[in-house]
Amino acid sequence: MINTLHLNALDPAGREEAIEKAAELLRQGKLVIIPTETVYGLAANALDAQAVSRIFVAKGRPQDNPLIVHISDMAQLDPLVREVPRSARLLAEKFWPGPLTMVMPKSQAVPDVTSGGLDTVAVRMPSHQTARDIIEKSGLPLAAPSANLSGSPSPTTAHRCAQDMDGRVEAIVVDEDSQVGVESTVIALHGEDVLVLRPGAVTPEDLASVLGSEHVSVHSSITAPLQPGEKAESPGMKYKHYAPKAEVTILRGSKEAFAEFAAQQKGKDGVYLLRFEEDGDYGLPSLCYGSQSDPASQAHRLFEALRELDELGAKTVYAHCPEAEGVGLAVYNRLLRAAAFRVIDLD
Ligand code: AMP
Ligand code: MG
Repeated sequence: MINTLHLNALDPAGREEAIEKAAELLRQGKLVIIPTETVYGLAANALDAQAVSRIFVAKGRPQDNPLIVHISDMAQLDPLVREVPRSARLLAEKFWPGPLTMVMPKSQAVPDVTSGGLDTVAVRMPSHQTARDIIEKSGLPLAAPSANLSGSPSPTTAHRCAQDMDGRVEAIVVDEDSQVGVESTVIALHGEDVLVLRPGAVTPEDLASVLGSEHVSVHSSITAPLQPGEKAESPGMKYKHYAPKAEVTILRGSKEAFAEFAAQQKGKDGVYLLRFEEDGDYGLPSLCYGSQSDPASQAHRLFEALRELDELGAKTVYAHCPEAEGVGLAVYNRLLRAAAFRVIDLD
């Protein structure tokens, strides 16, 4: 058990000191949880194989599931990769700093443990000021997966990081709740074309606005289980994800159909609704995850709502299906995994 420090970056008087301490620990090869605009990240020096291997132990993460390397300026990119495809430069100009991760051919500098044994490396430049300051102060590229125990919903608050990771990491940098709420968009680059491996706040439409829609495709496993024998373009696709303790089922249909289904569940033990603000609760215990017309609000709320449902002791959760478009595609993708692909079509 490590005695985990909580470094407060919220208090302006202590912020500088928190950043300095976090950077110092990272330089020593220690694990530090940092805020980012997507979700909180469990960071270590991406170039230090020993430090990175501790991330896998702390999370209980499968060794073949590679990590995203976080940088704070473009000068840090070149040493990590063998080449930067032209499309990556164009996308970086538009979306970095921000929630876009690009998979590129890796250089010798990146240890195999960071890339899960692949010859590619995933790189992102976060926009969160505290994350950027810590990367800059440490002078290191930071490998940082989501700061949850493997399989659980990703943490969007420092409080959830402490629940999962106190005693497993050297420090947690306490900051505001993550603005976006779901992890970054991950893309693979193939010549002029990009393939979305994981949807996020940078949408396929956003990518198409730079590259042209004929150059952007979305991997089938984003909205369907990986088929037997199908290659996992991204190792993360193979694993159970974001799963709360309750059994979640997605209900696809209109507000009226959702209301009718909910009414039939009234009085059943441990049944909760995960609904939109526009839905009623229909006499059942329920939590909201944003507004039906605002997918960004759903992304912001989803993981926290899943964790709250566990705390409430929910056994069965019926979740009103989001529109799988724009940022909503990322919300749908996470909810599908939380529900182990259980979907009921109501209409
Ligand atoms: P997390 O660290 O939890 O945000 O997850 C990172 C995601 O990026 C996982 O789904 C990984 O499988 C994926 N990823 C990281 N590196 C690569 C890579 N080199 N090639 C393909 N997918 C990657
Ligand atoms: Mg994760």
